[in-house]
Amino acid sequence: MENATPMYRQYLEIKKQYPGTILFFRLGDFYEMFNEDAINGSRELEITLTARQKDSPNPIPMCGIPHHAAATYIARLVRKGYRVAICDQTEEAGKGVKLVKREVVRVITPGTAIDPQLLEAKESVYLAAVAGSGETFGLAFLELSTGEFLTTEHRGGNSWSKACAEIESFAPREILYPESLAALVESAFGGGPRMLSDAAADDRSLSMRFSATLTALEDRLFHPSDAEALLKEQLKVGTLNSFGLQDKTEALRAAGACLRYARDTQKAAAEHISEIRFVESHDHMVLDAVTVRNLEIVESRGESNRRTLLGVIDESVTGMGARLLRAWLLRPAVRRSEIESRLASVNELTNSFLRDQIRYLLKEVADLERLVGRLNLGTATARDLLALNRSLSQAPRIRAALSDADSLLLQVLAEKIHELPEVTDLIARAIADEPPLNFSDGGVIRDGFSAELDELRDISRSGKQIIAGFEEDERVRTGIGNLKIKFNNVFGYFIEVSKGNVARVPDDYERRQTLANAERYTTPQLKEWEQKVLGAEDRIVRLETEIFQDVRSRVREETPKLQSTARALATLDALAALAETAVRRNYVAPTLHDGDEIAVSGGRHPIVEAFLPGTFIPNDVYLNNSTDRLLIITGPNMGGKSTLLRQIAIIQILAQIGSFVPARAARLPMIDRVWTRVGASDDLAGGRSTFMVEMTETATILHNATPRSLILLDEIGRGTSTFDGLSIAWAVAEYLHNSPEHSAKTMFATHYHELTELAENLPGARNFQVTASEKDGDVVFLHKLQKGKASKSYGIAVAKLAGLPQSVIERAKSVLGKLEKYELAVFRENPADAAAEANAVGRAGAARAAAQISLFAISNESLIDELRDIDIERISDREAKEILADLKKRVI
Ligand code: ATP
Repeated sequence: MENATPMYRQYLEIKKQYPGTILFFRLGDFYEMFNEDAINGSRELEITLTARQKDSPNPIPMCGIPHHAAATYIARLVRKGYRVAICDQTEEAGKGVKLVKREVVRVITPGTAIDPQLLEAKESVYLAAVAGSGETFGLAFLELSTGEFLTTEHRGGNSWSKACAEIESFAPREILYPESLAALVESAFGGGPRMLSDAAADDRSLSMRFSATLTALEDRLFHPSDAEALLKEQLKVGTLNSFGLQDKTEALRAAGACLRYARDTQKAAAEHISEIRFVESHDHMVLDAVTVRNLEIVESRGESNRRTLLGVIDESVTGMGARLLRAWLLRPAVRRSEIESRLASVNELTNSFLRDQIRYLLKEVADLERLVGRLNLGTATARDLLALNRSLSQAPRIRAALSDADSLLLQVLAEKIHELPEVTDLIARAIADEPPLNFSDGGVIRDGFSAELDELRDISRSGKQIIAGFEEDERVRTGIGNLKIKFNNVFGYFIEVSKGNVARVPDDYERRQTLANAERYTTPQLKEWEQKVLGAEDRIVRLETEIFQDVRSRVREETPKLQSTARALATLDALAALAETAVRRNYVAPTLHDGDEIAVSGGRHPIVEAFLPGTFIPNDVYLNNSTDRLLIITGPNMGGKSTLLRQIAIIQILAQIGSFVPARAARLPMIDRVWTRVGASDDLAGGRSTFMVEMTETATILHNATPRSLILLDEIGRGTSTFDGLSIAWAVAEYLHNSPEHSAKTMFATHYHELTELAENLPGARNFQVTASEKDGDVVFLHKLQKGKASKSYGIAVAKLAGLPQSVIERAKSVLGKLEKYELAVFRENPADAAAEANAVGRAGAARAAAQISLFAISNESLIDELRDIDIERISDREAKEILADLKKRVI
């Protein structure tokens, strides 16, 4: 430090204030990184690592990137989970200034990135914050690009796991938390492999479920009274009660920290954050991350990301509409009135004349939500303002299209769309038609908007003309035919004369530069004009910047109306998209009711249907909370059990976002949560085996399901031995059926045919099967749901379809035949044992036990034959003992 240059000392000072970031330090035309930052930066960005003071005993690692390409490099680092602090020169380098002032002007972090390069048009980027004390946890979620700000609180027993589920459902890119909660948060969302050894990597880690940067902050940044003061100032209110935040200390602390972090990183007031919404978890249907994945709501389990529910129904024409649809799907509504008002609008929009008109007009609407964000964060460009104008110019037409709408929601939306003629007029007058990207190129502001600017432009233009005329005059005066007046950034205007003509140069020319083939000069008169032109151009750039900023801040004053318009247009787009899907895909309006019945006739799975080459076979499903609360579904592999289970959940979810559903008719209740345990999923990275994952998920369901939930269990208990698995599956089904507080409507798909006996004993359980038939030894799937249990397992037929060698198929058939024969024999020979077993776990359990014995028999066929051949009467005691000893050795 003592030997450090003043510049490097300045660097170290600034770096100290921004721990946990990679500091981009502006030096001339470059951003430089030093030390650890340079090592990480050069590796992640694949740029050359060099060093300052290379030959000293302590060289300083260093790397740099050109400033004009910074956005791309920053985006790469932020996408990898790093935080980047941008340190710029904040004063001009001039004579006498040894060390220019430098300041961090913005910190770009994964959760606060608003750069279009880092945003997906159809996805929201959330910054999350967690606060907590005792058993109460507060969460806040901020979407900085649009200003959407939500907070919530979880209390009591399972509060932390509920909070985690909620965080997962937002899949934030960054999570803030006080240092005192580090252990808790890091064990839930961190713990991924730490491949990097540096300090920055230490507090950044990949979560198993989604990739979030973990950012620990000092506890004092979560102080409740500071949070309250900050929120009041931001939201411009005297009390936070109207936002439902009274007595919600933890929510308040999380929200305060979230907001402060956003403001500190952006170094802007972010006035588009004008509202905060306190959400209770019972305000929406809860879909945990496992369920969202299992049902492929926004992400596919396979390769193609279009094969998702969102992919199938997203017919939106704006990014805002797409984001809203995604948000609706992840948090469907639970209030019937709200859903029905959406359904009524969708119904009205199935009228193709109205829908086509609206969708056509919306296509011209830019991403207003994010545009308003950029306006308030000071990054909106002249082109953004033009896009704003194009969008607003659609407003009167959209309102006109909605003027005859019957549905209340469409009428309300029409009212929320503002035309803002003063804004459009101002932008139209101020901004040129095709403004350049850089202010320094000039021409952002339209001629005629500012008298001062027009005058400067005149000076500049006429100056240039005069200089052009001057060239001609000088040629005549000197007789040098190839004399030229040129311009460059270093010397300004100059006269260039080729070497051969130097003798003819008049005395009043002052030499400025000598080149190989030419000499360059200036004259007092040229200098005078040059000053006028350059002075004017300089002032033009400054004035244009000033005018632009003024226009931008006048537009920004309309933020509330712009936000209202943006939200209304987003909602309209989402509703029109649902209507478009309903018409294209032949969906029907569901009927909602306050009872408990799910009655779907002719239901289809929207994703399977969309991608199936053949025809999808529709099915009827009926569930209630009394007589039909547990459906046990059996049938062959590939028969369509999983598809059926999922399609019921998806139909319910679609209905609760206000969408039509893929069915002939559907009567549906309001569901508080869909739980799923579908298929086997490994969590090897998380160190949990398939079976452990399965049991953990099942435990969560058993503890938390309510009579208003819908549970899908697909093949539980398969990860362990047959007996264990069957017993667990049996007990789980019984528990769900019998415990009043958890008796949710349950669909249980299983290969354990034994479970079908449950339905014969439990009053609320029913057996169903997906059907298949056999033709010439091959299985034919009918995909049709019928009452009753599957009589036959088609495992071997499916294995044959899958291409197992013929010899394996034949052997399996013979083993199966023997097992079945033996099962019957045991029942015939030992009726007493079989009866006792049947009383204990049901007849099927005994059959299993029998099967297990017969398996032994098959594996030891030769040994059994030898036993049969022994004539006990003819062997001695000694021989008998030897045979026994030998047998004991050979048994497996
Ligand atoms: P497994 O027991 O092996 O998990 P499964 O019974 O759960 O099988 P699914 O995975 O639901 O079977 O369905 C297998 C395939 O059958 C689906 O991918 C789909 O192509 C087709 N299918 C399912 N249901 C239907 C249907 N109703 N109409 C047409 N095709 C269907």
